[in-house]
Amino acid sequence: MIDRTLVIVKPDGVYRSLTGKIITSLEDAGLKMIAAKMVSPDADLAGRHYVADEKWLQSVGEKAISSYKEKGVSVTESPREIGMRIRQYLLDYFTSGPVLAMVFEGNEAVFITRKILGPTEPRKADPSTIRGKYSSDSYDLADMAKRAVKNLVHMSEDRDTAKNEIALWFMEKEISSYKRTDEDMMYR
Ligand code: ADP
Ligand code: MG
Repeated sequence: MIDRTLVIVKPDGVYRSLTGKIITSLEDAGLKMIAAKMVSPDADLAGRHYVADEKWLQSVGEKAISSYKEKGVSVTESPREIGMRIRQYLLDYFTSGPVLAMVFEGNEAVFITRKILGPTEPRKADPSTIRGKYSSDSYDLADMAKRAVKNLVHMSEDRDTAKNEIALWFMEKEISSYKRTDEDMMYR
């Protein structure tokens, strides 16, 4: 099923000149870029992008706790407390420089994008993914420096989130409609 997703090259990806490689990795898999703009997010935009949603706070906190446990580190904070702390790091990270926001469309765009860009912690991401190939960052290194994991990109989690995120970053008239020359070959 054809769907759309939001991809953002975070400030570390822009500063490290990885925007081209990130775009190419998605285009090569058949995804079509239908919107793009460079923005330096202010606190308001960053806050609306990383909404303090209970489910997300819990999931971020739980992922962090399971990684602490793997390393034998004891945890006293609740998942939600960890989630709130990480959210603040994320807001600082997101407002620290320019980002490149894009919309990609294609078959299972949300799923394929997450597969190509890789899981959250670059240390664990497969080297065939953008996060695994271009970063080695880990939760403990980020924790020690009191910052978010620098994993180069943001991508929507699921179709519903993608719809909301696209509407936050782009007006309808900023999204283009066109056909890739290889679309018939891929989809028919
Ligand atoms: P993803 O970006 O893979 O969808 P999440 O939505 O769980 O990951 O988290 C959003 C972002 O928060 C991550 O991309 C990463 O930059 C940061 N982050 C998540 N967990 C941690 C953590 N334990 N420590 C530091 N930063 C984190
Ligand atoms: Mg996420």
